[in-house]
Amino acid sequence: MSRILALLIGLSIMSCKQQVKEEHTAFVDQEVKDTIVEPTDPKATEFYEPVPPTVNPMGKNGIPSDAIVLFDGKHFDHWVHAKDSRPVEWVLNEDGSTTVKDKSGDIKTNQVFGSVQLHIEWRSSPEHKGSGQNRGNSGIFLQERYEVQVLDNNDNETYVNGQVGSIYKQSVPLAKASVATGEWNVYDIIYHAPEFNSDGEKTKSATITVLHNGILIQDHFEIQGTTEYIGWPKNKSHGKAALKLQDHGDHSRVSYRNIWVRTLD
Ligand code: MG
Repeated sequence: MSRILALLIGLSIMSCKQQVKEEHTAFVDQEVKDTIVEPTDPKATEFYEPVPPTVNPMGKNGIPSDAIVLFDGKHFDHWVHAKDSRPVEWVLNEDGSTTVKDKSGDIKTNQVFGSVQLHIEWRSSPEHKGSGQNRGNSGIFLQERYEVQVLDNNDNETYVNGQVGSIYKQSVPLAKASVATGEWNVYDIIYHAPEFNSDGEKTKSATITVLHNGILIQDHFEIQGTTEYIGWPKNKSHGKAALKLQDHGDHSRVSYRNIWVRTLD
């Protein structure tokens, strides 16, 4: 009996010692942590490189100095027919914009891109009187696959994941931010390309953030794959690819102007 009592007392003392040791260790760890995380010298948390490049936000024609101008209203030198790379047939307007020529086909840049910051302006035609998806439908395809919807949604309802500013059939915009039909809308898009491994499997989804007339409508959305009209998103491996603009083929007469990108790769 006395042996058992002695054993219990011994265990109790060991337990107390262990607790004291753990508390002491925690105290010391906290001390070390405080020393590392909370320095008293402000210089300890100041870095001087890498130095970011200087960009003039109001470069030539008010466009950032490091941007690639894809369309300035003068010509289609940076664009080709999306299917067979023949010359673009869309209308070049005197006001520095281009208008979809119905059923002439989608157009794409002859330069390919990965991650980009894209600025693009568009407007719907007041003369176009269709309804639902058939009023002022066009679209901006990142890497020829992922569509940011362009649509005249003013007094014109449709499925919400296909409305203006949606990532088509995937992500409903956070707000409807269109200006009046016939006025110019602005999309500013931050797009990060998806990544694939050597087996062709997607290892990182593309992400997209969209400002529509300065209003956040897509907030770092993870793109699920290609934006299909019918069926689920596809995720076939791809590299850099063109920016594509849609001819929806329904006399939509959507116009575009002032298109530029900054590469983010
Ligand atoms: Mg469309």
